[in-house]
Order: sequence, then C-alpha cells, then structure tokens
Amino acid sequence: MSSCNNLKDGDVIVCEHCGLEMTITKACGCGEDDAACSEEGFNCCGKPMKKK
Ligand SMILES: [Zn+2]
Ligand SMILES: [Zn+2]
Repeated sequence: MSSCNNLKDGDVIVCEHCGLEMTITKACGCGEDDAACSEEGFNCCGKPMKKK
C-alpha cells in the first residue's frame, strides 16, 4: 500500500489505471511513530496508487 509511512524521498507511486505518477520529494516521517497521516494511502481513479 502506498500510505505515506512507507514512502521515502525519491519513491514513485503510479496509478495503474490512468498512468499518473507522483514522485515523493519530501517524506513526512510520520511512519516513525507508526501513525500514517494517510492511512488508506494515495488514491487515483478511485483505486490505490502503487509504489513503482
Ligand atoms: Zn504522512
Ligand atoms: Zn488514475
């Protein structure tokens, strides 16, 4: 899952439906206390985006 607590600087997440890609240029660090600020991950086209 592409929630922010397992994304780090330079990671790319992609929507397999439309091809949208987003690069993480600054990680938020919220994984350190195990509480992701986006628990359901990032979605596009109503589906979760996947880490590339
Ligand atoms: Zn976060
Ligand atoms: Zn999409």
